[in-house]
Amino acid sequence: MTLTEKILARASGSVRVKAGDNVWVKADILMTHDVCGPGTIGVFKREFGASAKVWDRDRVVIMPDHYIFTADAKSNRNVDILREFVREQGITYFYDVIDDPVGKWVFDPGRGPLKRQHGSRYAGVCHAALPQKGHTRPGEVLFGTDSHTCMAGAFNEFATGIGNTDAGFVMGTGKLLLKVPATMHFRLEGSLPPGVMAKDVILHLIGEIGTDGATYRALQFGGEGVATLSMDDRMTIANMAIEAGAKNGIFEFDGQTQAHVNARCQLNGTPGAYEPVSRDRDESFVSEMTLDLSRLEPTVACPPDPAQRTLAKTLDRVRLDRAYIGSCTGGKTSDFLSAARVLRGRRVVIETFGVPATPEIVHDLQTAVWGGRTVWQILVDAGVQMTENAGCAACLGGPADTFGRVNAALKCISATNRNFPGRMGHKQSEVYLASPATVAASALTGRVTDPREYWS
Ligand code: SF4
Repeated sequence: MTLTEKILARASGSVRVKAGDNVWVKADILMTHDVCGPGTIGVFKREFGASAKVWDRDRVVIMPDHYIFTADAKSNRNVDILREFVREQGITYFYDVIDDPVGKWVFDPGRGPLKRQHGSRYAGVCHAALPQKGHTRPGEVLFGTDSHTCMAGAFNEFATGIGNTDAGFVMGTGKLLLKVPATMHFRLEGSLPPGVMAKDVILHLIGEIGTDGATYRALQFGGEGVATLSMDDRMTIANMAIEAGAKNGIFEFDGQTQAHVNARCQLNGTPGAYEPVSRDRDESFVSEMTLDLSRLEPTVACPPDPAQRTLAKTLDRVRLDRAYIGSCTGGKTSDFLSAARVLRGRRVVIETFGVPATPEIVHDLQTAVWGGRTVWQILVDAGVQMTENAGCAACLGGPADTFGRVNAALKCISATNRNFPGRMGHKQSEVYLASPATVAASALTGRVTDPREYWS
């Protein structure tokens, strides 16, 4: 069996499963956030009754992260609905925006978008926060009401996004009926050259197979090249499996996975026992592809979709209005460190926004010191508008007052993961997807720019 089949066999109590089988799968974790949480709770109460209890209060993880730092009253109310539900259900893992368990969340626009407005438990973008808070474990099944839940496949688990109706059912029963996806195998060889990032790997790959090239399939990543990729790198790649239509993306388990997961479970006091899955001889792939990481170059996905792959160096005539570094895909600590390598001692010439995915990443950047300055200060000195209010921000557009939202027909280069029309706000805006290094280099010139000439 493939890695995905092994996990789904175990989770369904079967000796073996194969692609196409329909199986009832037990969930280890159900994650939801402020956009889909209220809808999921509504389905749960409608179907199971107003006084029903969730199937396991330790396995429902609630992470408000999307429309948080906005004065939009309905968005603020969504966070309050989550808080009320958590109180009612006694849910253990709720990463609230405020510290007062009976309070109401209100964003204060008068304090500006840059200074922290959240409380001490807030965790930021769910996909980056789940591993930081010790909720991603090898061999487990993670369902989330968000399409980029597949990011947790970096940790050798089956992780996939589901809709509110399915999530309401999982909330009540802890189970879901799933068709086992066929697996496409990607063998990674070599290592990334300087200035080329994991984002370039996945943009290249989606360019190869298209936005529907992996519809309802599992993308399994292995090969000796994986050892050269950090956990952040693997998360970036797994995150965008959905952009090729995949059900999930999954990496092989190794010492890096183990060290990361063990440290995070211990730090947060979350369950530390898990059973990874490894490859066996008896595995069948629907396709196999080898990718030599050392041959990749900085890559951009042009509008209007993530498969419009082009090399950054060929797009130097594309003039830009804005640059954006952030999101679960491109707002991790390593992403900002790469941007800082490019921006150090230089100055951006277009509006540039920096939104760390989580408060922990804000802390990393404000405490990492290079040449007597924090990385945060290096980015600010380069002209990047850095906010301490970690979250999804403009990745998904959001309410009109969202930090970094593209409110006009602008051309934006972005470290995010999706560039369909209107994704970051205005319907006529155009989004070029790229690595944080390419976004940073492009911010310096106002045109799409290969970062290798600025890489230091
Ligand atoms: S950062 Fe963007 S892609 Fe990630 S969860 Fe938020 S809206 Fe979705």
